Amino acid sequence: MPLPGQLNPSPRVLMGPGPSDVHPRVLTAMATPLVGHLDPEFLVIMNETQEMLRDVFQTKNQLTFPVSGTGSAGMETCVVNLIERDDKMIVCVNGVFGQRMADVAQRAGADVTTIEKPWGQVFDLDSIRDALKKTKPKVLGIVHAETSTGARQPMEELGKLCHEFDTLLLVDAVTSLGGIPVEVDRWEIDAVYSGTQKCLSCPPGLAPVSFSPRAMEAINRRKTKVQSWYLDMTMVQRYWGDERFYHHTAPITMIYALREALRLVLEEGLQARFQRHERNHSALKAGLQALGIEYAAEEGYQLPQLNAVKIPGGVDDASVRKRLLAEFGIEIGGGLGDFKGKAWRIGLMGYSSRANNVLLFLSALEQCLLSAGLKISAGAAVAAANEVYSKN
Ligand SMILES: *Cc1c(COP(=O)(O)O)cnc(C)c1O
Repeated sequence: MPLPGQLNPSPRVLMGPGPSDVHPRVLTAMATPLVGHLDPEFLVIMNETQEMLRDVFQTKNQLTFPVSGTGSAGMETCVVNLIERDDKMIVCVNGVFGQRMADVAQRAGADVTTIEKPWGQVFDLDSIRDALKKTKPKVLGIVHAETSTGARQPMEELGKLCHEFDTLLLVDAVTSLGGIPVEVDRWEIDAVYSGTQKCLSCPPGLAPVSFSPRAMEAINRRKTKVQSWYLDMTMVQRYWGDERFYHHTAPITMIYALREALRLVLEEGLQARFQRHERNHSALKAGLQALGIEYAAEEGYQLPQLNAVKIPGGVDDASVRKRLLAEFGIEIGGGLGDFKGKAWRIGLMGYSSRANNVLLFLSALEQCLLSAGLKISAGAAVAAANEVYSKN
């Protein structure tokens, strides 16, 4: 085999369900020299990263740190530490990631009950209360930002409700953290996991997690060892805590990246960052509406950072996405599960959430739809988006 050429990926505008575009400062941080994972300088970097993570999660939880692995490793970490064989767990399923959480919990030996809502809808407190009453589970798991449908689960009061039943609340915040508010302490969340490649705009590879004191007590009361050696919090916390006891080699470069990504989040300010996501979402939505395109998630519960929309009739899913990528360098996501072939998922996450991306995408999509023979008025989408930008 001839030697492959030097790596030279084409520039892309990442507007799918993740990864999102990475800020140049994060890439620069990744190109800095390695230090050892027990180097005194690295220990400071770890502390700084944890402290900034607590700010972004809006928590005082001591056990807050990035798990080595992608978002799904965060999911697995939370489940295997909270669950012992035959423990009862309720998982709320209204999309792919709720399904995944139920699968992970079953594999971990939980006695799983799922409650379901149609894709694109969210759960109300009454239906969750009914399920808690019936099952009285140890853990209830729910997805805050369901990336497969673009639905935003309201979180107010949910933690309080779970605690009335002595149930721990486990939340998937993979797509929400850094894009919309995630208030771990105020919402009384007991275990939460995220991922770096969505609204934190860092490459994939780490899963920030946080455990409440109540969750830590439950973990310390376990009768059996955590089934996964690698993800066992009782061991990993000895490295991330004061002891600095070697467990596994920290992915140094990824932690450099996350540290810089978190600096960018806090420099901008959480509120300003959430407003930016809202603003670009409003402009994109106005543009899509001008093209006659509808959202897949219920009105009032749509995520600003993940716009799941119905593919217009007569338009071929794959050929449009292929053209967007080949001609314009734009990546968007196709549908998953029930939405396969029926929805596009347009991400405006973190560094990707910018007016120039919204305007570029709308004009590129317009060309694709015009070529597909759709009767749309040329220029209307960009004009509608610009109107939103001019107003706020
Ligand atoms: C992306 C995603 C995951 C999985 O994260 P990976 O980094 O792909 O392992 C889990 N939950 C949600 C809601 C996601 O969007």
